[in-house]
Amino acid sequence: MEKTKARTEICALDASRLPVTALPGVGPVRAKAYGRLGIETVLDLAYHFPRGYENRGDVKLLSDTPNGAKTPERAAVILTVGTEPKKTMIKRGMTLLRFRAYDESGTAEITYFNQNYLADAFELGREYRFYGKVVHPETARGKYTLSSPAFETIPEDRALPPLYPVYPLSEGLSLSTVQRDIGNALARVLPTLEDPLPETLLRENRLCTLSFAIRNIQNPSDFSALAAAKRRLIFDELFAFSLTMAMGRAKRRRTGAPALTAAPLERLYALLPYRLTGAQERAIAEIRADLSRGGTPMNRILVGDVGSGKTIVAAAAILISLASGKQAALMAPTEILATQHYKELSGYFEALGFRVALLTGSTPASEKKKIRSGLAAETSFDRIDLVVGTHALLSDGVELIAPGLVVTDEQHRFGVEQRATLARKSQNAHLLVMSATPIPRSLALVLYGDLDISRIDEMPPGRQTVETYTVDERYRERLNRFILKQITHGGQVYVVCPSIEETAERDGGEDADLSLSDVSELCGEGAPKEKAYPLKSAVKHAETLREALGDVPVALMHGKMKPKEKDAVMADFVSGKTKVLVSTTVIEVGVNVPSATLMIVENAERFGLSQLHQLRGRVGRGKAQSYCILVSEAGRGVSEGCGGSLSYERLRVLCENHDGFAIAEKDLANRGPGDFFGRNPDGDATIRQSGGLRFRLADLATDAELLTAAATSAKRILDSDPTLERNPALRALVSRYRENDAETNN
Ligand code: ADP
Ligand code: MG
Repeated sequence: MEKTKARTEICALDASRLPVTALPGVGPVRAKAYGRLGIETVLDLAYHFPRGYENRGDVKLLSDTPNGAKTPERAAVILTVGTEPKKTMIKRGMTLLRFRAYDESGTAEITYFNQNYLADAFELGREYRFYGKVVHPETARGKYTLSSPAFETIPEDRALPPLYPVYPLSEGLSLSTVQRDIGNALARVLPTLEDPLPETLLRENRLCTLSFAIRNIQNPSDFSALAAAKRRLIFDELFAFSLTMAMGRAKRRRTGAPALTAAPLERLYALLPYRLTGAQERAIAEIRADLSRGGTPMNRILVGDVGSGKTIVAAAAILISLASGKQAALMAPTEILATQHYKELSGYFEALGFRVALLTGSTPASEKKKIRSGLAAETSFDRIDLVVGTHALLSDGVELIAPGLVVTDEQHRFGVEQRATLARKSQNAHLLVMSATPIPRSLALVLYGDLDISRIDEMPPGRQTVETYTVDERYRERLNRFILKQITHGGQVYVVCPSIEETAERDGGEDADLSLSDVSELCGEGAPKEKAYPLKSAVKHAETLREALGDVPVALMHGKMKPKEKDAVMADFVSGKTKVLVSTTVIEVGVNVPSATLMIVENAERFGLSQLHQLRGRVGRGKAQSYCILVSEAGRGVSEGCGGSLSYERLRVLCENHDGFAIAEKDLANRGPGDFFGRNPDGDATIRQSGGLRFRLADLATDAELLTAAATSAKRILDSDPTLERNPALRALVSRYRENDAETNN
């Protein structure tokens, strides 16, 4: 018994390490082709998942197929070969194999170019499953035709798999080669494959075994097996991510940071025309405790609505660093935001006797050089104490000689590499991240698993509440009159649309019928879809408004425009030259237009509540009463007495709540976590997926629930085995998924 077990383990180990050349028929040339896809071992090949599937199980009669001359759609038919395949030479070096095959609805001519060797594959009177474009008689000389269709022999038991895998290929690899090699790899690997996840974990999370998952993602026996397989593999990916994140955090905990104990905060407060809110004071106290501890660096995120006053909290942290004889850096995602921060902070810190510099992409080279040497100055007399900037701070040569604190604003908007560079550069510094995206506690744990959290959940006194209403199309006329009224009274208007141009919802054109990401949808998994209403596009809607509003200047802005164009449009709106700005969600979070008094969101049902809340935050910054109007057909049923739809209930939450955290919690409860990772036409998300989280199979818009489960499980395992010393299989899992992922959070 013992002996067999030991043998099995060795085999499993061997199979995973065997090079692909161990498979029958794979020589050095093909191994090199696989190498270009990052596939070295037999196990890598087993993990080379299909890009999508051809839906060959949906067999149709010839007469019921879509006409391939008019659509790109392909279809599966089962036909009996009716004539002997005939070879003809059409030109030098070009041959044609031709025969007829039929079903009860008609006869088709089937042709293969330059594939004469197929002649022997077809037997007169036998049935085959063909898959390809079927061109109908009316468009093809009076008969059905199929050109070079894929085909399979119908086996004795007539059972053919319904889904046919299609793989990402590279030069030198044909689809059939890859399919065959993967088949051989599975035969080699699966019988002895060890599942890295403990059985309890599988049971708790209702996961299938790893070998079932790999077999069925490669060759699904049916849709539900495929869905189960995909769910398991997504879990693995998210689990590996969670483990990496948690282990990185532990590692960071071990590196040394200076104790920053001087805190002459009264000197800063004396410069302010206001008193701090209780929430700001609490956040500063938390930060102060972290900084003074020493050894373990602070690793904290400061979350608070737009306008909640995060900057002054960051300033307090910076002062602690500077007064303790260490430097500080603050990095913002755009030049506009960096400059804004610089103006405010240099005001405070120069008054307090410190040297402050601004470093962005447009800083002249000579100035950059001066700043670099100022940051590296040996004596504190020559030294720049605080540098504010964009990711230009990350470029080579920018080094702080005495780093104490690094602050980033809206860190999720930095790219993976930028975050990695920042992490490397600030290894022994304390880190403070600021975010205006209020996310629920449970999600924050997952997303910012490596950070402690401070929340500013209280607005400075005297802020107005933006009156919020939900209306439907019937109010369009009144809405246009309301726009005009705001403008007459000196106001300006934002109109946000969910899409840029009128486009089909889904972009087809893939040569697999369903991509891997469609699977759960097809299997009826995932969140229930609300009724879809026609989408207002920014381009079209701007035109409509120009017509409806007469000579009111209406501007248009969206994510497909160049940054320069966007800046120009924004500048015109800020200066009041344009009165109405129609846009997608590109409008910058930090931009402040005090005379904007009306925010209209079209197709409001399409947005997450937190996103709507952020959009609403663009108005109500001046003295005049401001309004937010959510336009949605979802409300119509209600006012007509048909009862509340889910969408309408969601929008009501926004009308009644004005605190971002409360809204985020309700959003999570109503809609699940998807919205927090949602995407919009500009490719921007509440929490941008490509920012820090790039997954092969997982999609946080639909799999956030699994992520939470994975994070919980990861934490439990690491509690008892912090470095996975006792779990080599899990270590292997982590490194398998980390290979395709540049993310280094720490
Ligand atoms: P955000 O959290 O969006 O970064 P800011 O730090 O830019 O917010 O603050 C928004 C505005 O509120 C600024 O004009 C700031 O001076 C002001 N402010 C911050 N704290 C207070 C406070 N406690 N009382 C009154 N105004 C405040
Ligand atoms: Mg800010």
